[in-house]
Amino acid sequence: MEQSTAKMPIRCKAAVSKVAGEPLEMEEVEVAPPRAHEVRIRILCTSLCHTDVTFWRMKDLPAMYPSILGHEATGVVESVGDGVVEVAVGDTVVPVFSAQCGDCADCLSDRSNICSGLPIRPGGMPRDGTSRFSFASTGEPIHHFISVSSFSEYTVVDVAHLVKIEPGGIPHEMACLLSCCVSTGVGAAWKVAAVEPGSSVAVFGLGAVGLAVTQGCRMRGAKRIIGIDLNPEKFEIGKKLGITDFIDPNGTDGRTVSEVIKEMTGGGADYCFECIGSTPVMAEAFKSSRKGWGKTIVLGVSNDVAPISIPSHDILRGRSVVGSLFGGLKPKTDIPVLAQMYLDKELELEEFVTHEMGFNEINTALELLTQGKCLRCIIWMDGAREKENVVKVKPKENGRACEAA
Ligand code: NAD
Ligand code: ZN
Repeated sequence: MEQSTAKMPIRCKAAVSKVAGEPLEMEEVEVAPPRAHEVRIRILCTSLCHTDVTFWRMKDLPAMYPSILGHEATGVVESVGDGVVEVAVGDTVVPVFSAQCGDCADCLSDRSNICSGLPIRPGGMPRDGTSRFSFASTGEPIHHFISVSSFSEYTVVDVAHLVKIEPGGIPHEMACLLSCCVSTGVGAAWKVAAVEPGSSVAVFGLGAVGLAVTQGCRMRGAKRIIGIDLNPEKFEIGKKLGITDFIDPNGTDGRTVSEVIKEMTGGGADYCFECIGSTPVMAEAFKSSRKGWGKTIVLGVSNDVAPISIPSHDILRGRSVVGSLFGGLKPKTDIPVLAQMYLDKELELEEFVTHEMGFNEINTALELLTQGKCLRCIIWMDGAREKENVVKVKPKENGRACEAA
C-alpha cells in the first residue's frame, strides 16, 4: 500500500518559466502541503491555452518569474487542508482559473461570474498570496499562475477553484478542455451573447476558443457563422464545428475585414467575437457588427494594456461591446452540465484534441500552439494515462454513457 504523503512536502517535476519567451525548464520542485481551504492535486493531464503563451512571452507584470504556468488540467486529490469538505482524497477534479466562492455578491448573482470573494491574484495562492512551490535545490520560491499552475506533477489549488468530476463519467482529457477553452467559448455564445436562432456571427480567431464559440453559436441556431483567421487551414476544422464562410484577412483584395463582413451580411453581423487577443482586431470586430443591435464579445487576452479604439458615434448607433472571462460561466455550476452534455453527445470535444504528448515534450507543445499548428495538445504526466486505471467512458449511440476498453 502506498504511504500517505499528506501534510508532507512532495518533490516532483515541474516545467518552470524562468525568462520571458525562453523554453520552459524541467526542474525538481517542492510542493508544500495544502493550507486551510486548499487542496493538493496530482495532475493527470494538462493542455496549453493561448493565455499561457501570452504570459510566457510577457516581460513585465502581471507576468512573474520564475513561475509555473498552465491552467487547463484534470487531476486527482492527493490531500486536503483544514476546512475542505467539498472534495476528498482520490476525487477527480478540474481546476479553473476563475473562482466560485459561492458567498460573494457576484457568486450570488446570475449577472456575474467574476467572483469578488477570491479575485485573481498574480503569483500566489488566492487567500494569502504566498506560494506553495519552491526549487528543491535552493528553496527559492516559485510563483503560481492564475491560481492553477498545472505544468507540475503536483500543484496546490484553492477549493473555490476546483470542480469535482463524477467517477466513471467524462474521460480525463475531455474534462481538461472544460477547464478553460471549450467552456469559455460555448459559455460566451450561450450566456454572454445569448445568440438567437437565425443570427449572423463573425468569429475572429479559430483556435480552440473561437471554435468553441462557433460550436456554441451553432447549437443556438445561428444561421451564418463567418470565421476569420490568418491561417486558412483553420477553415477545414472550422467547417466541422459550424463555420459557414471563411475570410483570410490577407486575401480581401485591399478591403478591410469589416467591409467584407458588412457586405456578406447586409450591414454587419449580429454578434462578433474576438478570440485572438489583439486590440486592433477587437476594433475591427466592433466595426463588423451591425448598427442597431450588433454586439461584440471580447474574449482575447491582449499582451499589454493598449486601449481599444472605437468611435463614440458608432456606440450611439446602438452597438455594444462586452468582455467575458470563462464565457460568463460559473465553474462549479456549469462544468458538470457541459460534461453531461458531452456524455449525451450534445457537445463535441474530441475535435479539439489535435495532439497528445508526454510532459517532457511540453516545449514542443508550446511551439505547436505558437505556430498555430494545433488546437489543443493534451500533455500527459508520466505514466498517468496507464496508471490511472483509466476506464474510458465514451458516449454511446443512445446517448447513455457506457464503458469501453
Ligand atoms: P489559439 O492560439 O489557439 O488561436 C488563435 C487563432 O487566432 C489562431 O488560429 C491564429 O491563426 C489566429 N490569429 C492570430 N492573429 C490573428 C489576426 N490578426 N487575424 C486573424 N486571425 C488571427 O488561441 P486560443 O487558445 O484559442 O485563445 C484565443 C484567445 O482567447 C487568447 O487571447 C486567449 O488568451 C484567450 N482566452 C480567453 C479566455 C477568457 O476567459 N476570456 C479563456 C481562454 C482563452
Ligand atoms: Zn485558458
